[in-house]
Amino acid sequence: MFGTLSDRLSGILSGLTRRGSLTEEDVNAALREVRRALLEADVALEVVRSFTDKVRERAVGAEVLKSITPGQQVIKIVNDVLIETLGGEGESINFDAVPPVPVLMVGLQGSGKTTSTAKIAKRLTERHKKKVLMASLDTRRPAAMEQLAILGQQVGVQTLPIVAGQSAVQIARRAVEAARLGGYDVVMLDTAGRVTLDDTLMAEVAEVKAATNPHEVLLVADALTGQDAVNTARAFDARVGLTGIVLTRMDGDSRGGAALSMRAVTGKPIKLVGIGEKVDELDEFHPSRVANRILG
Ligand code: GDP
Repeated sequence: MFGTLSDRLSGILSGLTRRGSLTEEDVNAALREVRRALLEADVALEVVRSFTDKVRERAVGAEVLKSITPGQQVIKIVNDVLIETLGGEGESINFDAVPPVPVLMVGLQGSGKTTSTAKIAKRLTERHKKKVLMASLDTRRPAAMEQLAILGQQVGVQTLPIVAGQSAVQIARRAVEAARLGGYDVVMLDTAGRVTLDDTLMAEVAEVKAATNPHEVLLVADALTGQDAVNTARAFDARVGLTGIVLTRMDGDSRGGAALSMRAVTGKPIKLVGIGEKVDELDEFHPSRVANRILG
């Protein structure tokens, strides 16, 4: 209804004569549109504020390049700050440790955690020629354990045999030991999903982390949950300490606000992106693509 941010900025700034540099007034008018576009893309308010401050700082007094209009100049600055905030391209999973390297997968139920575990295991097996073992630590939901076993068969990755009655920490220890004995390179631990950020399950994840000393702790978060994804990321990072984020459902109509907010709030890189339900629908994170979605 309002057109893309680029269109809006060009409209607002089209009346400006070339003054050589952008005035505070020009920039403020533009920033009102930037703020609106970020909020429409479901970026968290605190992130919108710090983001627009950064753009203002860079834009006021900036020389308008001869070849472009003031509107294009602001768009370029917004795009640059977006890409910087979203972080580097191709941050991949780090296995720079003595094998078996434990990778802990955490997140809310329904975020795509189990699917992403299998997708990553498949990728590590096929592209990186790693020998991967997966284990489900979801002792409360036998169906989740079954789901991982089925996905394992589908992607050709071993899963730890299910033993009833063990705690999450016991399963995690058994997985690491089995991976060590079996000569595996990576052991992926799929922790229990939780509907809310409840303390008991958070304590369990912290306990598993302490027992296994994972090299990566990856938060799986649904891009469509927008601002909730930020609260989830903040809580997991504070309680468990994340090393990276896997953003799922980027095939949906998310504008990418969750990516920007989670990265800005936690400072942790988005390492991979889920782009569909199928096991090979996993992609590297491309900041410029997300910036384009946000800019519209
Ligand atoms: P978990 O409860 O976090 O383990 O979530 P699941 O892995 O069971 O995934 C929940 C649902 O989301 C399943 O139907 C998945 O197929 C689906 N899903 C997971 N990742 C993606 C994704 O990137 N895109 C889409 N469209 N669906 C996904």
